[in-house]
Amino acid sequence: MGVAAPRVLIAGGSLGGLTTALTLRDAGCDVDVYERSRSPLEGRGAGIVLHPATIRYFMESDAMDVGQVSSKADWLRYLDRSGDTIHEAPCRYWFTSYYTLHKGLLDCFDQSRYHLGAGMTGFRQNHDSITLELTGEEVTGDLLVCADGIHSTARRLLLPDVLPRYAGYVGWRGTVKENELSAGTLSPLHDACTYFVGDRMHILTYPIPDFDGSVEPGERRINFVWYRNVAEGPALDDLMTDARGVRQEISLAPGAVRQKHVEELLAAAVEQLPEVIAEVVVKSSEPFVQAVFDIAVPRMAFGRVCLIGDAAFAIRPHAAAGTAKAAEDGWQLATAIRAERGDVIAALRRWEPHQLALGHTVLNRSREIGRRAQVSGTYVPGDPNVSFGLYRPEDSWINEAAPPRLSPSARRLSH
Ligand SMILES: Cc1cc2nc3c(=O)[nH]c(=O)nc-3n(C[C@H](O)[C@H](O)[C@H](O)COP(=O)(O)OP(=O)(O)OC[C@H]3O[C@@H](n4cnc5c(N)ncnc54)[C@H](O)[C@@H]3O)c2cc1C
Repeated sequence: MGVAAPRVLIAGGSLGGLTTALTLRDAGCDVDVYERSRSPLEGRGAGIVLHPATIRYFMESDAMDVGQVSSKADWLRYLDRSGDTIHEAPCRYWFTSYYTLHKGLLDCFDQSRYHLGAGMTGFRQNHDSITLELTGEEVTGDLLVCADGIHSTARRLLLPDVLPRYAGYVGWRGTVKENELSAGTLSPLHDACTYFVGDRMHILTYPIPDFDGSVEPGERRINFVWYRNVAEGPALDDLMTDARGVRQEISLAPGAVRQKHVEELLAAAVEQLPEVIAEVVVKSSEPFVQAVFDIAVPRMAFGRVCLIGDAAFAIRPHAAAGTAKAAEDGWQLATAIRAERGDVIAALRRWEPHQLALGHTVLNRSREIGRRAQVSGTYVPGDPNVSFGLYRPEDSWINEAAPPRLSPSARRLSH
């Protein structure tokens, strides 16, 4: 038996938490978001690949014209070491900044229900309710959605045996402003998602808006992600030890990588990459590094609690689907709550199998892309199976025509 307007507590106010907050609110729930960060969230400067699921809220609500705040790639291109094109095909990828997406979602939500500096420390549930424990206070509701990311506190409490598994390689990332690149480099890169696949490594570049959201030609940035094998043990420990001498588990932020590693990266770029791609790496400001991990959970629903987004599955970036999956977890949850007419336990039971299957599918596909490029050397340029996508390769292509809209009244919980 459900309640008319379930009270929903969401721990984590990034893209997964906010999309879920909006879709559940529109389904008739009474929603508050508790975000640990004390200050408003900002981008890490790497850009976000857009999928239909990522921008669905804006498309259906007319809240933001995503095309105006995004950059796009019309070509998928593979270069060889000398810089010649070895494969080229039209594509429709769109990219925007984290800041643009997060601010756009936050603007659609009631600011008084978005609580900064509210870190979840634990929770407890009984037959009738769930209590979220925050630093210094407690709140009670009907459902707790844990969208607290790759380092999830909730996952650690619910599934202490689930640990991140290192993939054997890291992703170096960085960006350079378009107007700092030579004309000969910008011309082939500015409208394309460009790959170079080398010996047990690969790199891609694509255009993203500037950190403040600018999408004017010249003001945008070219982003790179270079996957390089680093053995677990002393080599990885050394790379992941930041400029303050602290060994970070998963990522070093821009400015935190030690100079000797940055110098090695720039030298390797000149030695190993096509000239146009090497120029992007060499001119990038403050390249940073993320160790690549897989995290997969056996369950996402636990009575009145669920894990969504990176808190449940952390997926290698090759399918560029992490943000889309987090958003999709939220959309599907709202659909289940509507179908179960506000009965949150029944809704979680209905929701979990599909989201678990989706998480495992995209995780396995991303793992396979990584294996082909970094381990077996069987990555085939142009093979559609190695392209971005959430449910399947290439479903991240966004057509310029807007999808059909649902009226807000059709989306509310009906009783
Ligand atoms: C500030 C920020 C910038 C990012 N920039 C990029 C980018 O440029 N490119 C890219 O590809 N990906 C970026 N990401 C990651 C990307 O958002 C996620 O990989 C993906 O969207 C899945 O989102 P998520 O909401 O599940 O997890 P995340 O985006 O990781 O969000 C988890 C949120 O939970 C909060 N949190 C953690 N622990 C607690 C707790 N105990 N209580 C309450 N809140 C908690 C975190 O502060 C964070 O805001 C960024 C993430 C953040 C937080």
